[in-house]
Amino acid sequence: MARHSIKSQILHHAVIYVFAVFSGSTSSACSAVPNNSAANAVQTRDDKKDVAALRTAIRKIEPYFKPMGPPAAYDWLGSHNEAGQTFEQYLDSKPTRPTADRKKIYVLPLGKFDTRQQKVISQTADYLEVFYGLPVTQMPAVPFSAVHPNVRENRFTHTRQVKSGYILKDVLPPMLPKDAAAMIAFTADDLYPDDTMNYVFGQASLDDRVGVWSLFRPKDLDTGKFLRRTLKIAAHETGHMFSMRHCTKFECVMSGTNQLAETDRRPIDACPECMAKICWISDEDPKKRYERLAAFCRKNGLTAEAAEFDRKANSVA
Ligand SMILES: [Zn+2]
Ligand SMILES: [Zn+2]
Repeated sequence: MARHSIKSQILHHAVIYVFAVFSGSTSSACSAVPNNSAANAVQTRDDKKDVAALRTAIRKIEPYFKPMGPPAAYDWLGSHNEAGQTFEQYLDSKPTRPTADRKKIYVLPLGKFDTRQQKVISQTADYLEVFYGLPVTQMPAVPFSAVHPNVRENRFTHTRQVKSGYILKDVLPPMLPKDAAAMIAFTADDLYPDDTMNYVFGQASLDDRVGVWSLFRPKDLDTGKFLRRTLKIAAHETGHMFSMRHCTKFECVMSGTNQLAETDRRPIDACPECMAKICWISDEDPKKRYERLAAFCRKNGLTAEAAEFDRKANSVA
């Protein structure tokens, strides 16, 4: 999909459709980011000072990240020519950012989940709060069932899928709180965007401030892998909702992914350039943010990541 072809939607789909058709693969992909709504851009602080301090922090944590190498077979950058986005380019793009009236992230469990899925959703809500430095509210689960014409049987897997656009347009908007910067719904159902696509991980509407992401594909017998995948997808998609483009400078949670194997290789963290964007939109101190991320990881059994966040916190001090 062309980089600016969708104004208001972020679509994570089987972009390499030909590959998906011939192989019947579960290959999935991550599309480019839409244009921003300049009307949402609010810059109210002494940005020059903030930007200089964040640029200094960027340099201090660069050694912790792996520069993006040549793409492996079927990797995102093998089929998408993306330029990346520095911190300064992000600022120049007049990004969508939270405002005083709309600064909460809401997490909505849509439908039924087993105990393990419920736990991962709660952990992901906690992660988004420390990752973005914004208040996150987990809403009570709401019943959800979809019927024809908003469901289909996948031609390869013969499993049931729900049309993501139906959830975005008809299901979520009536439930959107007024103070939401974004409302992210999770579903256990597999999703598809339209009849030409095999499936999507998730989809978001910037104009409506809603997104839906499926736990169907990321699920794994290994609970740690399932958790890491869900954290990465949620952090990545929420970044798009704040106008962050795909990252090409480092292996980064904001880098595009074509397949779960590629997602698995990526860190749960944002690279230095993307860290600065996050700290800028939430007016967050990098050291405090890393300390909170380390505490989250320790609490949730992500030992290696906790140690890494501790090192980054010490480096930016
Ligand atoms: Zn993406
Ligand atoms: Zn990045």
